Amino acid sequence: MNDGVGFFFIMEDLIIIGGGPAGLTAGLYAARSRLKSILLEKLSPGGQVILTDWVENYPGFPDGISGFELMERIRRQAENFGLNIQSQDVIKLNISPERKLVVTDKGSLETRALILATGATPRKLGIEGEERLTGKGVSYCATCDGPFYRDQEVAVIGGGDTAVEEALFLTKFAIKVHLVHRRNELRATKLLQERATAQEKIELVWDTVPTRILGETGVKEIEIKNVKTDGLSRIPVEGVFVFIGYNPSSELARGQLKLDTRGFIVTNNDMETSLAGVFAAGDVRSKLLRQISTAVGEGATAAFAAERYIESVAQ
Ligand code: NAP
Repeated sequence: MNDGVGFFFIMEDLIIIGGGPAGLTAGLYAARSRLKSILLEKLSPGGQVILTDWVENYPGFPDGISGFELMERIRRQAENFGLNIQSQDVIKLNISPERKLVVTDKGSLETRALILATGATPRKLGIEGEERLTGKGVSYCATCDGPFYRDQEVAVIGGGDTAVEEALFLTKFAIKVHLVHRRNELRATKLLQERATAQEKIELVWDTVPTRILGETGVKEIEIKNVKTDGLSRIPVEGVFVFIGYNPSSELARGQLKLDTRGFIVTNNDMETSLAGVFAAGDVRSKLLRQISTAVGEGATAAFAAERYIESVAQ
């Protein structure tokens, strides 16, 4: 097909955007269904899971498995069935019920159905020093940067599963981990809470938010505020790890698909978005629980629903 400006498109059955657990599982199912499909990923597949040191709540691995290895296995499994994974950065979507164009840094692709499995990105604190010192002591990945803090003190910001899990991981290296949380109760799963309170290297700093991250060439201190008293104080730390949740990577869908108030893509139980032939799965989707196990199930459902959709429009 010619788009009128000289490009010729080969029509795909299905394009999957995103190579995390949801996208790769959708790709695995699509490949087994012999759909002519491509999975597009900006860099290399794996998603946020590859930044997770150890995954222990994904069924089938009673002793746990490294996030990197789990994703490698899922990728290999999908490729064994013939999934075509390409490294292309998607810049724009031109989507309507009649026609779906995916514009990437390498060209344009046309597809009958589309699955968005673009995941989410770490939320920032938005305080002084955060941006300037990112990569110089401020980090959003303990697995990547934790080993730099051997025998040093670090702060972890947040009280959810990620913050507590990563704080526990950091105790392998740091002499002390200050876990700074804005309330006096953690949001994390009870099991993780028990581990955090039992770990002597973790000091819980309750009812507190960071206000500034200080240092010239590297982090030296973090300024914190007690939200009950408004009192300011400082903790000398070499590293600040921020785990305060995620924002959906849904920019491509903005203005084209229905999003919830926080920007996550709204779907029904069959992963159908507000536009026929476009599906969403994984962390980018509006839902209750963001886990590898939920992402995998949604990827499978999205691929199956996409196959049914392709068959219905072909008739
Ligand atoms: P989350 O559950 O949204 O928790 C974010 C934490 O950061 C909360 O404790 C929140 O405080 C705090 N926070 C948010 N904005 C803040 C701000 N501006 N300043 C200070 N603190 C702030 O995010 P998450 O821990 O990254 O988890 C995301 C999802 O992944 C969850 O569904 C989680 O269960 C899942 N997950 C699961 C596992 C696992 O199963 N092993 C591991 C990692 C993540 P409040 O509590 O006061 O809101």
